[in-house]
This record gives sequence, structure tokens and C-alpha cells, in this order.
Amino acid sequence: MSTIADNVLTVRARIGAAAQATGRDPASIGLLAVSKTKPAAAVREAFAAGLHDFGENYLQEALAKQTELTDLPLSWHFIGPIQSNKTRAIAEHFAWVHSVDRLKIAQRLSEQRPPEMAPLNICIQVNVSGEASKSGCTPEDLPDLAQAIAALPRLKLRGLMAIPEPTEDRAAQDAAFATVRALQDSLNLSLDTLSMGMSHDLESAIAQGATWVRIGTALFGARDYGQP
Ligand SMILES: *Cc1c(COP(=O)(O)O)cnc(C)c1O
Repeated sequence: MSTIADNVLTVRARIGAAAQATGRDPASIGLLAVSKTKPAAAVREAFAAGLHDFGENYLQEALAKQTELTDLPLSWHFIGPIQSNKTRAIAEHFAWVHSVDRLKIAQRLSEQRPPEMAPLNICIQVNVSGEASKSGCTPEDLPDLAQAIAALPRLKLRGLMAIPEPTEDRAAQDAAFATVRALQDSLNLSLDTLSMGMSHDLESAIAQGATWVRIGTALFGARDYGQP
């Protein structure tokens, strides 16, 4: 069985090859390790192998893990669906939120971000798969939502996040990620982040401009309970 350190090397090699294939600098692509369902010990192992950024979907699980790992200089990203009663803890315990898809949540995060902390980095999750996905704002609602979020004081709008419908068809992957990038370009805001690409489709996402790939399975192995 491969260790997490082996997997980090394999994933870094995939990122490097995908970057090279499209003439991008591999250093412009961040590796966000998605540690949901995995124990703090796995995060510790990934940190020892050189990773600093970790993504979590479930607040209680994330807070418990953070408490076990306060000795490490980690950067935590919230990437799951957000209920309004969870915004305060998210605003207080994360550096990034990738999954904002409505204004009410963004307003609460801005109000609740502690003043002594740096602004909370935000990606708007956009739904590019229509009925196949319930999360994410629609492409139609995106321009107004992005303008409103960009104006909130304690947030820094960085870009877009998407989880296209899973497919092994490279052309379909490319089309979905190209749509995300085109939406980002159409906003005319100065955004620098595209959070897209997971274990099965990171090559396509990088070809279409991803700056964060969010990788779980390829780093930590299969999860015990099924979540996208
Ligand atoms: C679980 C999850 C990932 C990681 O998916 P893998 O296929 O395991 O790499 C990435 N992004 C989000 C939002 C997730 O929920």
C-alpha cells in the first residue's frame, strides 16, 4: 500500500505534467489536501510530506481536527455546504471558504470575521452542471452575487469554485472547466483564483486554468463513507 508521502509525490507529478502540457508554471497551482473523514494523524503525515493547505466539508469534524493540530502552521479551507448557524465558527476558524453560493451567507461571514484576523478569502461556488447539482449559484445569478460579495468589508473575493458532474470523458471535463473560467473572465473583477479539479479530473482543470486543485482520494485513499 502506498503511503501518504508516496501519494503526495504522485499527485505533484500529475500536477507538474499537466502544467507542463499547457505551458503553465506548476508553482501557480496550489494543492489543497481534502482531509474530510480522515484522522488528524493523516493530516500530520501530509504536512510532514510538505502540504500546508487542508480542506474540510463538515464543521464539527474540522474543528475537532484543528484542535488536535494546533502545533502545526496549517491553513484551513472550508469547502462544504454552509448552513447559516455555522457561519460564525467558519469565520473564526478558516482562512478560505470555497463554497459560498448566496449573499446571506457571505454577509454573515463578513460580519462575523474577527477584526484582528486577515480578511476571509472567498470563492463563489458556481453550478455549471444544471440539475445534476444542487449546490452553487446559477451562472445567471453570478454577476450580481459577485458584485455584492466583492463589496463586503471583511471578505476578499478571490474567484470561483466548481464541482462539475463527474465524468471520465476528457472533452466533457474540459468543457465544464472552460465554462467556469469564461464566467470568471466575464465578471471584470480582479480575481486570481479558480478552485477546480479533484482526484479524477485535475489534468483537465489545470489545462483550463485551475489555481487550486482539491484532492482527497488520490492523497489519502478512499473514504469510508461516500461523499462527493
Ligand atoms: C471530497 C471533495 C473533494 C475531493 O474529492 P476527491 O475526488 O476525493 O479528490 C474536492 N472538493 C470537494 C468540494 C469535496 O467535497
